Amino acid sequence: MDAITPITYTCTYTDFDTDMTAMITPSEVVEHLYCPRFTYFMNCLDIPQHEELRYKVLKGRELHEKREVENREYIRKKIGCVNKDVSVYIASRNLRIRGIVDEVLELNDGTLAPLDYKFAEYNDFTFETYKIQSVLYALLIMENYNKPVKKGFICYIKSSNKIKEIIYSEQDICYTKDVINEIFNIILKGYYPKKTKYQNKCIDCCYRNICV
Ligand code: SF4
Repeated sequence: MDAITPITYTCTYTDFDTDMTAMITPSEVVEHLYCPRFTYFMNCLDIPQHEELRYKVLKGRELHEKREVENREYIRKKIGCVNKDVSVYIASRNLRIRGIVDEVLELNDGTLAPLDYKFAEYNDFTFETYKIQSVLYALLIMENYNKPVKKGFICYIKSSNKIKEIIYSEQDICYTKDVINEIFNIILKGYYPKKTKYQNKCIDCCYRNICV
């Protein structure tokens, strides 16, 4: 198990807007991180991505693969788990986030930790997006279980169930909250965000014809 270097980040958020009714999922946060304009096209203009079918096929495959992980007890034991909740739906009006956590683990030091199974190989890029998802789960768990959450785990199924441990820092939490606020600034205020910095993402983007 490898520990991860924390994000270097200066916090800018103050507090969440109280004018909120909608909730978003960790997947929507990841899409926003891929390109902020996805949030605008999907949530403000209500234009879905034309990838639903492909997405459903991938999702179905991912769910199947997740169920096929056989040595879960071994994985849990290795990371100091003494108790667990599986497939936990958690929502928070305060955070404006809802989602299903694969596993909420109680560790032998009395803290809780999310364990997320990913049908993916480990690499630095996916790790950063999964890390944000893990922080979101941690915030949801802290609020709903009212217990400390200091770290989380990601299991990479396609890398022989490699486990990555994430120690959450204040900066990780601030950054994640800022991203949530940024998303709701777009959704609630109709703010049109800048394009992604990485133009190669635009090449086969489903929004490229309307994205100016
Ligand atoms: S075309 Fe590029 S900037 Fe526009 S939504 Fe797609 S990825 Fe983002």
